[in-house]
Amino acid sequence: MDLVDPFGRTIRDLRISVTDRCNFRCTYCMPEEGMKWLPRSDVLSFEEMERLARMFVERFEVDGLRLTGGEPTVRAHLPVLVRKLAELRVPAGSSSPLAGQKPDISITTNGSSFRLLAGELRDAGLDRVNISLDTLQQEKFLQMTRRDELVRVLDGIEAAKEAGFSPVKINAVIERGVNDDEILALATFGRERDVEVRFIEFMPLDASGHWMSDTVVTQDEIVAMIGAVYPIEQVPARGAAPADRWRYLDGAGMIGIIPTISRPFCGDCDRVRLTADGQFRTCLFATDEFDLLTMMRRGANDDTVAAEIQRAVGTKWAGHQINQVTFTRPVRSMSQIGG
Ligand code: SAM
Ligand code: SF4
Repeated sequence: MDLVDPFGRTIRDLRISVTDRCNFRCTYCMPEEGMKWLPRSDVLSFEEMERLARMFVERFEVDGLRLTGGEPTVRAHLPVLVRKLAELRVPAGSSSPLAGQKPDISITTNGSSFRLLAGELRDAGLDRVNISLDTLQQEKFLQMTRRDELVRVLDGIEAAKEAGFSPVKINAVIERGVNDDEILALATFGRERDVEVRFIEFMPLDASGHWMSDTVVTQDEIVAMIGAVYPIEQVPARGAAPADRWRYLDGAGMIGIIPTISRPFCGDCDRVRLTADGQFRTCLFATDEFDLLTMMRRGANDDTVAAEIQRAVGTKWAGHQINQVTFTRPVRSMSQIGG
């Protein structure tokens, strides 16, 4: 049975935050100190994640699962979870292109431990990987992530390629006055290393609350900067994917841009989210959460939990209101929600 929201959008993609913890402290995401971690007992176990994922995939025909956080690789034994998820099957009668097969399983990671995990994750059934990299300069990397880990992240990208992930995508959050001078360098890096760089507009989900609309470097600006040096053309039809894509006319690959602020793509959104503490959210910017963890731990059966998921999806709004005065920031920031 499809999960359809009040605006006719069918839910196909579940983002699962496997932990709220992280070994980095990116300035656009977390504060340097003072982050309050969830107590371990409040974090979903792998069995609970699997149970929920099974409901989404086998009952609601969701065909994409993305693991995120916090930093998903700091959760011990992550390949065990991936292996469990890879055993799920999208129903054979589903309209999904993956009907009868396992869901597409992907991860978003800062890449610093990927050298250690790439092979094991691939063997466990991980299909795709996005690695975050906002700068190629060591000093700026230290400034933006508050960790001196650029070399390890670059090595993590190579490890992902060597393990056979293809394409490897790079997520680069661009913040005006911080790393907008590196847009071209990051594009060049993508062309040379054969990875697809996806530029992300800075969103008001930073724990420090320094986001302002003029700190956003828009899609149009990014396209103009790259297009002035490397001729590009837009690839039509984004579908439900968050990134608009362009191809280099000389055949050197693609770039993506996620224009959350300047061109919201909420009308095509097919995503829902599960936080590490088992709260179900229908939008990154939602202000309501639905407590599936407590429900499950009190003994609710699958039908009851599924009914709650349907009720929650019934509240999914048409779109975020970031550009309007009515916008209210969610109480939790990016790493606590799961980006
Ligand atoms: N730790 C992993 C990582 O950094 O890739 C996964 C979690 S992180 C919250 C997921 C994605 O959200 C990353 O690509 C990160 O750069 C992005 N992100 C974090 N804060 C953001 C913000 N305020 N605006 C836009 N993107 C943000
Ligand atoms: Fe950690 Fe990812 Fe947030 Fe950076 S963006 S602090 S790596 S969760």
